[in-house]
Amino acid sequence: MVLRMSALFLRTLREDPADAELPSHRLLVRAGYIRRVSPGIYTWLPLGLKVLRNVERIVREEMDAIGAQELLFPALLPKEPFEATGRWEEYGDNIFRLKDRKDADYLLGPTHEEMFTLTVKDLYSSYKDLPLALYQIQTKYRDEARPRAGLLRGREFVMKDSYSFDIDEAGLDKAYQLHREAYVRIFNRLGFHYVIVEAMAGAMGGSKSEEFLATAEHGEDTYVRCSSCGYAANVEAVRVPVPDPVPFDGAPAAHVEDTPDTPTIETLVDHLNERHAREDRPWTAADTLKNVIVTLAYPDGHREPLAIGVPGDREIDEKRLEAQVAPAEVEAFDEKAFAENPALVKGYIGPGALGEQGTAKIRYLLDPRVVEGTRWVTGANEPGRHVIDLVVGRDFTADGTIEAAEVRAGDECPSCGHVLETARGIEMGHIFQLGKKYAEALDLKVLDQNGKLVTVTMGSYGVGVSRAVAAVAEGNHDDLGLVWPREISPADVHLVATGKDDEVFAKGADIARALEAEGLEVIFDDRKGVSPGVKFKDSELIGVPTIVVVGRGLAEGKVEVKDRRSGERTEVAVDDVVAAVT
Ligand code: ATP
Ligand code: MG
Ligand code: MG
Ligand code: MG
Repeated sequence: MVLRMSALFLRTLREDPADAELPSHRLLVRAGYIRRVSPGIYTWLPLGLKVLRNVERIVREEMDAIGAQELLFPALLPKEPFEATGRWEEYGDNIFRLKDRKDADYLLGPTHEEMFTLTVKDLYSSYKDLPLALYQIQTKYRDEARPRAGLLRGREFVMKDSYSFDIDEAGLDKAYQLHREAYVRIFNRLGFHYVIVEAMAGAMGGSKSEEFLATAEHGEDTYVRCSSCGYAANVEAVRVPVPDPVPFDGAPAAHVEDTPDTPTIETLVDHLNERHAREDRPWTAADTLKNVIVTLAYPDGHREPLAIGVPGDREIDEKRLEAQVAPAEVEAFDEKAFAENPALVKGYIGPGALGEQGTAKIRYLLDPRVVEGTRWVTGANEPGRHVIDLVVGRDFTADGTIEAAEVRAGDECPSCGHVLETARGIEMGHIFQLGKKYAEALDLKVLDQNGKLVTVTMGSYGVGVSRAVAAVAEGNHDDLGLVWPREISPADVHLVATGKDDEVFAKGADIARALEAEGLEVIFDDRKGVSPGVKFKDSELIGVPTIVVVGRGLAEGKVEVKDRRSGERTEVAVDDVVAAVT
């Protein structure tokens, strides 16, 4: 196909957009790939849409290659399935909610575990139907607190999400591994540098989970890596000792008198909200203990891991707190050692009855001041039942921001003890062993070989397709503009005709047609009355990998072929130009 610049719906800009800080954002807007509609919401202009489609094609090819089948769900979804899994509440302000004319609740899908689970339940009933992997490339909606950097963090964005369905753990492991390999191929083809890091299960619950982070100094994710053993993990997922623990003297913290001896989740909520009202300062995430990781240890030796994440930007309530309880990591608890030296145990809480996994009810008391580093968590000490191992700076933060929870460079690698380094990246993909969480909540069961009903085990796997457009741009540009890898470039060749000579333009059109006949995509700058300087600048800004200039040299039967990335120019005979660029 030939895109003629004289007609192409494109206006390049000389000035950087005022709201754009990152190069990818600046350049994608300036080069006419995207236009902002509203924060985190963008229009794909013709060139941008071509790049997006190219990323989609790569993702689609690799998903098809592992036998995943494509389908397409609506973005507009009813509330009920999300209520059944608890996510209608859990998402809080992060989803777009709307009502229909009959006052029924709907949402714009932020991710589709519920819908896939229900559809498989609808159509499949036997182990013979499994394994199964389904995917879609679809527009997602999340009301992100800080939409940022153009396409990198949109409120409307394109995601490839896939889901695997298996009868047992071995099947899930295999599906996970297949996806992992497909992701390696996808990100290699997209042409950016990335790392695979361990990721925390977070609010989704489940077991194994890894992220693909594009390495980028402006990335929002911080990860640690060990140059000795290769261990790498998102800081949200790592557990390293705090270097200098504050000694616990056994005495209750001063505020304990504020709260009853046997606190319940309700009294915790009241306590935190009262404090909030009393103190003349902003309510931070630290006050409500963001991402506290706790372990419940029982007298019989069995342990329940829990992770509690409570967003701190608003008043918490009981439901939210409970909804956020999810499985985490198990730590040993030594009752005797604790009796001898309470400082060993970094915090303890007397839990109440545990409900089903993922919706545990706990009764506890936390001292929000621990986040200021003055004292470890203290609490009601129900004999034999303790929550242990709360660590300042790792499990929650001093100033309420995620950044402050970072593992510091210099901490020990949990795998080999070597010194860790930290670095930043952009989350491009996320693979996740969900296990039975969604299948249980939505009752997805099939008959096994013995005619017995068993719950299906699932995985979920996401790629940020629109985010990838920005991430590739972020990793492929120079002072002059974008420099696309060929596979996702909006065109293979940017052909520039210069001067006023009609013959030049006619020859340019011939070359464009010849390239097109070879199956190449061509941008042909056939604009009349536009100076060569402007045309060259535009070609550099737009960033197609090969630029061909037809101009004065034509008199001697020559055109110039320029490599956008290296800047290298070569003179080529007109008749050889097709061979030179294919
Ligand atoms: P993040 O940590 O960046 O908020 P996430 O962990 O919330 O991402 P997932 O739910 O794992 O995202 O979604 C799968 C993929 O979708 C992510 O790996 C990312 O590439 C992409 N993605 C998530 N949120 C956005 C967004 N707001 N804009 C663009 N892409 C996104
Ligand atoms: Mg997110
Ligand atoms: Mg993430
Ligand atoms: Mg993720």
